[in-house]
Amino acid sequence: MSDERDYEGFLRSRREEILERVAEAARRSGREPGEVGALAVSKTVGPEEVLLARRAGWDAFGENRPQELGRKLAALADEPEMAGVRFDMIGNLQKNKINQVIGRVSLIHSISSAHLAEAVSTRCEARGIVADVLLEVNVSGEASKSGLSPDEARSGAEAMAALPGIRVVGLMTMAPAGDADAARRTFSGLRELACELRARTGLPLETLSCGMSDDFEVAVEEGSTLVRLGRCVFDQGYALM
Ligand SMILES: *Cc1c(COP(=O)(O)O)cnc(C)c1O
Repeated sequence: MSDERDYEGFLRSRREEILERVAEAARRSGREPGEVGALAVSKTVGPEEVLLARRAGWDAFGENRPQELGRKLAALADEPEMAGVRFDMIGNLQKNKINQVIGRVSLIHSISSAHLAEAVSTRCEARGIVADVLLEVNVSGEASKSGLSPDEARSGAEAMAALPGIRVVGLMTMAPAGDADAARRTFSGLRELACELRARTGLPLETLSCGMSDDFEVAVEEGSTLVRLGRCVFDQGYALM
């Protein structure tokens, strides 16, 4: 029990420090702190830790595997404290797993191809729902990263946005690890692409999902509206820089 309280205390003070840093970075970019949201990425922890994080103040979580998402939602379904808590799908989504995700998450961050957009739309239509989604763009061009190329986003955004079962509300990207300058270029590239796509399509594209534990302050400086934080939230061994 006392270990649990210690961990909850860690989660609470870490959250305050993270939100303070997000707020400062938002002000540096000329924005209000309230314009930037944060997801606690719970993929490496169990439902017990999610509940402690909820008690520590987190109200939005991100998962990257449909099966794990389902497992956590089931384990936490009867917890009154979890009422109204948001889960997002942030990871690679295979077509045969779409039905495990739609209707359960607030936002799918990882629409990485026109094919996937169509498949999600079709399955949502069959269920009579409309899913909020982000287009995942491989801004940095690394071969290891999934996502639409910026050119695919330019040529395909309008058609994807017209699909009846999805609402395209913004863009998502991942920056190269361990290189702050490359990360900054990736995030500013996402912001510029969003501007261009807004002009081209008339879509508001309000959400820019970018920034992880190692680079979230840079991401917010460059316009992120939603950071996705795993290690810095949950890992007591992770030192905030
Ligand atoms: C794991 C993960 C994160 C969080 O990464 P950290 O470096 O632990 O903050 C963010 N986004 C995606 C897509 C992830 O898979």
